[in-house]
Amino acid sequence: MSNGWVLPDEILRDAPAYTPRPGELADLELLLTGAYAPLTGFLTRADLVSVSRRGRLVDGTPWPVAVTLQVPTALLREFDLADPNRRTLVLTDGEGAPVAALEVTDSWQVRDGVAGVGGRVRRLGDGGHGPFQRLRRTPEEIRALLPPGRVLGVVADRPLHRPQLAQIAHAVRTLSAHLLIMIPVGEDGAGGLPPEALVRCVFAARDRMPPTTVVAVPLARRRDEIGDALLRARVSAAYGVTHLLSTSEMLSGGGLRVLVPRELAYDNRDGQWRWREDIPPRNRRLPLTHNEIEDLLDRGFPLPEWHTPPAVAKELSRARPPRRHRGLVVFLTGLSGSGKSTIARGLADALREQGERTITLLDGDVVRRELTAGLGFSKADRDTNVRRIGWVAAEIARHRGIGICCPIAPYAQARATAREMAVAAGAGFVLVHVATPLEVCERRDRKGLYARARAGLLTGMTGIDDPYEEPTDADLVIDTSDLDVDEAVQQVLHHLTETGWIEPRLQSF
Ligand code: ADP
Repeated sequence: MSNGWVLPDEILRDAPAYTPRPGELADLELLLTGAYAPLTGFLTRADLVSVSRRGRLVDGTPWPVAVTLQVPTALLREFDLADPNRRTLVLTDGEGAPVAALEVTDSWQVRDGVAGVGGRVRRLGDGGHGPFQRLRRTPEEIRALLPPGRVLGVVADRPLHRPQLAQIAHAVRTLSAHLLIMIPVGEDGAGGLPPEALVRCVFAARDRMPPTTVVAVPLARRRDEIGDALLRARVSAAYGVTHLLSTSEMLSGGGLRVLVPRELAYDNRDGQWRWREDIPPRNRRLPLTHNEIEDLLDRGFPLPEWHTPPAVAKELSRARPPRRHRGLVVFLTGLSGSGKSTIARGLADALREQGERTITLLDGDVVRRELTAGLGFSKADRDTNVRRIGWVAAEIARHRGIGICCPIAPYAQARATAREMAVAAGAGFVLVHVATPLEVCERRDRKGLYARARAGLLTGMTGIDDPYEEPTDADLVIDTSDLDVDEAVQQVLHHLTETGWIEPRLQSF
């Protein structure tokens, strides 16, 4: 079996394997499909320096951004970069299936324990799996499908509503171009919309578009607006695009024209979308902003038909149901004895009484037995603890349940990770800081821990000789010093009702 690889199978079999991070995997896929042509692998140090200094590879080819891979330094210990038989790294996807072989021809220290590696990549295996795999065609396949002449490219990183559809139709007519819709599927889209939901939303608008070719492209953003725009232009050109419809400012790159569409508005005299300056202000309705769209969906209101085709609205409301039906993580953080568990239990009971989604309380003995057995109270163990709890809570919320967790979670970074995991699962995350002051927690000393810490019998006690980083991003702060338990629970319930995560109910029992 050749695997399309020049090395014998034994070398591949013995080569170490590594799973790159999601953004790197997206880059890898683009390298393998030829969408990053002329690149054939991750950049070496010399190319990297050259790209950052002058926007060109060492050989002079213009290239807009760093396409890099970082690995743990320890992985490279067995490598001999001078020996072609001892410098192969197998790259696997998130589930551990081999995707590619990287021939490491350059490596360098990035920071402690982390090295950059550069070199050619070759596809291994059958080209991967995942939803809508059939739409992930290569630039070569797409170019063969396109008719001759101009090709208008649209990177549909959000669902297409009527104003965007009108802009596209206008541009296609003006240019007499064929339309190529590229759907970025390298990461979750705006508003936590998973790529497969974005694909469904775009397809729901297909009967309102001119004849079109659709391709899913594993593009992920780099949080560098100009670099991203230039890279999109490069990739679009690889797919055969001659004109790119932009949504940001005018940028050119990759040798194609970038069109900046004029702003359209809805004319309520005849129901047409046209240039906004051509409509008298009193007849003019501006397109909804992304925030307005998300707000309507969150509250469960239908998107108005003048703005969004009903089929698109239906897909969107399936992907982003109203908050009261969506999954939710309620994350209570605070010192030991601040009242987290007590409030969490009261909250779980109240929600169960109301019949809100399924509830899982991730607290205390059950968590320590089933999930985090063996972890202690070092920073690393505390972070692992919070990460595991956050991961399980996010999965509960992905399936539209409510996960309530109450670790002390003293570190801001670990709490932020828990929030990210919930949001990435399309769920809500409500951080409740139970901000009962140390003196009160210590006076309560429910578990006798403070006394032991003060007596020097216990070290690493949060608030005594271990840090607690006060949240600056709490959605709700409760100091239980002068509250009874019921009042504290009511505050959380009130917040969840106010923000739409649970339905308002009259207490009738
Ligand atoms: P944690 O989970 O934060 O370590 P616990 O919930 O185990 O804290 O303990 C908090 C203690 O404070 C309990 O003994 C509880 O009865 C008492 N308490 C007093 N007032 C409140 C309140 N308003 N909310 C929560 N707990 C309270």
